[in-house]
Order: sequence, then C-alpha cells, then structure tokens
Amino acid sequence: MSASGALRLPSVDGLLRQPACLPLLERYGREALLAHLRQLLDELRSDVLNGQLSAVEISPEVLAGRVGERLAQQQRSNVRRVFNLTGTVLHTNLGRALLPDEAIEAVQMAARYPLNLEFDLASGKRGDRDDLIEGLIRELTGAEAVTVVNNNAAAVLLTLNSLGARKEGIISRGELIEIGGAFRIPDIMARAGVRLHEVGTTNRTHARDYEAAISPRSGLIMRVHASNYSIEGFTASVPTAELAELAHRHGLPLLEDLGSGSLLDLTRWGLPAEPTVRQALLDGADIVTFSGDKLLGGPQAGLIVGRKELIAKIKKNPLKRALRVDKLTLAALEAVLGLYRDPDRLAERLPSLRLLTRPQADIFSQASRLQPAMAEVLGEPWQVSAVQALGMIGSGSQPVARLPSAALCLRPHVSKRLRGRLLLNLEAALRALPIPVLGRIDDDALWLDLRQLDDEPAWLAQLPQLQVDQ
Ligand SMILES: *Cc1c(COP(=O)(O)O)cnc(C)c1O
Repeated sequence: MSASGALRLPSVDGLLRQPACLPLLERYGREALLAHLRQLLDELRSDVLNGQLSAVEISPEVLAGRVGERLAQQQRSNVRRVFNLTGTVLHTNLGRALLPDEAIEAVQMAARYPLNLEFDLASGKRGDRDDLIEGLIRELTGAEAVTVVNNNAAAVLLTLNSLGARKEGIISRGELIEIGGAFRIPDIMARAGVRLHEVGTTNRTHARDYEAAISPRSGLIMRVHASNYSIEGFTASVPTAELAELAHRHGLPLLEDLGSGSLLDLTRWGLPAEPTVRQALLDGADIVTFSGDKLLGGPQAGLIVGRKELIAKIKKNPLKRALRVDKLTLAALEAVLGLYRDPDRLAERLPSLRLLTRPQADIFSQASRLQPAMAEVLGEPWQVSAVQALGMIGSGSQPVARLPSAALCLRPHVSKRLRGRLLLNLEAALRALPIPVLGRIDDDALWLDLRQLDDEPAWLAQLPQLQVDQ
C-alpha cells in the first residue's frame, strides 16, 4: 500500500486524451506514441512510488514534452548533413565531392520518371547503360572505349580479374599501396585471381626490374598512383610512356590506376599538378581507372577507360553485372561531365573545384567576419582568433600538398591539465548541434577551416545553441 497522499502516475489512456499529446498523435501516429508513453511511465513508476518526483514532473504537459523529444530523436534520419570544416575538401568519411545543381536536377529527374537506362531510343532496341556516358568520356579523355562501375575499387578489381586472372600481375614494390577502408593492392589482386609479381624496391624500381619479371606466365603490368603518401629522397620509378613501350614489346597490357585522376590540368587554377587521364592514355596506358567522386567532382563511381578490345573483354565479365552503377549515378555523372565541355566556367559551376580554388583572402575575411559571433557564444575561457591555416585536397590527391586557407582557431586558456578535456568537450558540443560542425584538433586548439563554409546563415543561426561542458 502506498502512503496516503502519494502521487500517482497518469494512465496511458488518460494521457493519450490530453491536449498536450494530440499534436504528437497527429505527427507520429498512435502506435509509436503509445509505445513511448508506456516506456516512459514504466521508467518513472518506481521513482513515483519512492516519492522522488514532484507533481509537476509527472504532469501531462511534462510527460508529453519528454515523449515528444524521444519521438523526434527516433524519427531523425541517420543520414545527416554536416558542416565539413576539417580543412580536407574531398573528405572520404564526409561524402567526398558535392554535386553541382545540374547533377542534382538530373538525379531528381532519374528518380522521378522512367528513363532510357538500357533502351536505345533511336532504334527502339535494348541498349547498354554505358552508352549514356561513353561519348562524353571519350571526348574528354581521348579513350577509345569506356565502362563505368560502382567505385574505383570495383574498377580495379574488375579490370584485374578480366585481364589477368590465373596469370601474373607485375607491379613495383613502391606501389603496393593501402588506401582507406582496407583497400590493399595485394589483397585486391588475390581476390581478382591475379598472382602478384612484385618487382624493384620500396623506393626504387627500374625498367630492368620489370623486364626481368616478364615470362610466359605474365598477364599484365600495373601502375598505381601513390595517392595517400609520398616517397621522397633517393627514388626512381619508370614513367608511364617507358613502361607502356616495355609492356607492348612483350605483348602485355599496361593498367594505370590513377585513383583520383583528373580530366583537366589543375595547374591552370593554381592547384598542384595531378596526372590527367588523357595524358596517361597518350603515354600508352591501355586501361586507366579513376574515381568519379574525387577530383572529377561527381558521384561515387569508378571509370574504366582505354582500348576498345580490352574494354569489351571487361564488359563481358559476369562481375560487371554485380558492380554496375545505378541510374541516379549515371544521371549525375553525365551532368557533371557535361560541365567539363566549358572549362572556362568549370570553377564557378563545379562545387569541388570552386571550393578548392577559393582564394585565401576570401576565406580569411570570412573568418574575421565570424570571429566576434564565435567569441561571444564561447565566452570564457576561450580565445577565438581568425588565422591563416593549411588545408588539403583529400581523397588521395596530393597527400603532401597544402591548400592555403583560413580558420577560426578556438584555444582554451586553462591549465595544460584541463586543456585536452575542454577541447574534446567543445568538439562534442559542435557535433551535437542540429547541423553537426566538424573541425580538427591540433596544437592544443580546435580549428574550424572555413574554406567550405558556404551556408553562413545556417551556421550562424544554430550557434547560440552551442553548449560546452566545462
Ligand atoms: C581512391 C583510390 C582508389 C579507390 O577508389 P574508390 O573510388 O574510393 O573506390 C583506388 N586506387 C587509388 C590509387 C585511389 O587513390
């Protein structure tokens, strides 16, 4: 028996009829609301019996408010927009390239309506989805033929399996790379059924090393662009043109995995030089593979371009069917590639290139403009300053090159002992904002690189909600 005068929890049915619950009923439906009400009441029951809750704490309004928060939390999508202020533009964990409006419209069209994905409108016969983008890619790269798969890892796997299964693949020890997400060239080769024949050393590989490895068991020679590290000092590697000549002399195809690759020479925008797909083909590579969402600035995809008969062989591989791209990707890819026809306006229209080429002075003035608002929200003990910073391209393009940028530098003025925890608290508070803000911690400060802060109003609007634990 409870003591006389003890509070009693309202019943689920009673609560359901309360005005405070009606909007929740409308928004989330009866089933979800009931389940959450029951769960909350169960959780509170023993506290109420022990007299630990006040009448207000179990009023219908308060209970409805708590249930409303839980329902909102549960209904929030897991896929969420964030602010990428890490300084890394093509951030693999944050979705890499942002699509231009043209591609977004194309994706919407492809999502909403039936389309000629594998249907040739001219002849009325069945078509091939690669045909939708083959002409454009040939025009932009000079390749004879093209096929597109889900990502560049798939492109490498499919190419190796199609051209080198049960044979040896010759590759320099300096190019046996691992890139993020456990993509390792030796493992991919093994899964593709290609026997790895490594030649040379980590820092130096010569033409004679490849030459000595060639035998009747050889199936192909492969070159991999060192994308996320650099070998400096006493180094040697064989240029594509020379390696292609050597491969062809022995009747072997040369595959070049460019990783990021680029369709245009980026130095015209003041960016570090990346090998272009066209140049790799001109140098004699028979097949070149590269990503759609790295420097190209498009959707996730793996592009395989090169000699016609080799592409035909790749397309016949049953794995192609398992690795093919979907209609949304093709629609976006075509729209992005279309922008490359007008290089003069590319930096305005392609978000990744626009962000990569944003002038430091422009970013710095944005940092100066936002500094007072940030300083005011953080208050003591934080020192907030607008500073120059160095960012990077990301996604394995130019691992050692740095992009001159600017940042808000948030530095806690507390004893060294407390600094680390405070920085982590600030980092967590920024992540807890409605649109999470991601920066980076370095040198006892949290840096928000503003190169990619496009939507300043949305960023400023949520700033007052920032709550940092001390
Ligand atoms: C990024 C990269 C890949 C993998 O490309 P994804 O599109 O991420 O699958 C393969 N090879 C190299 C050299 C790369 O840089």
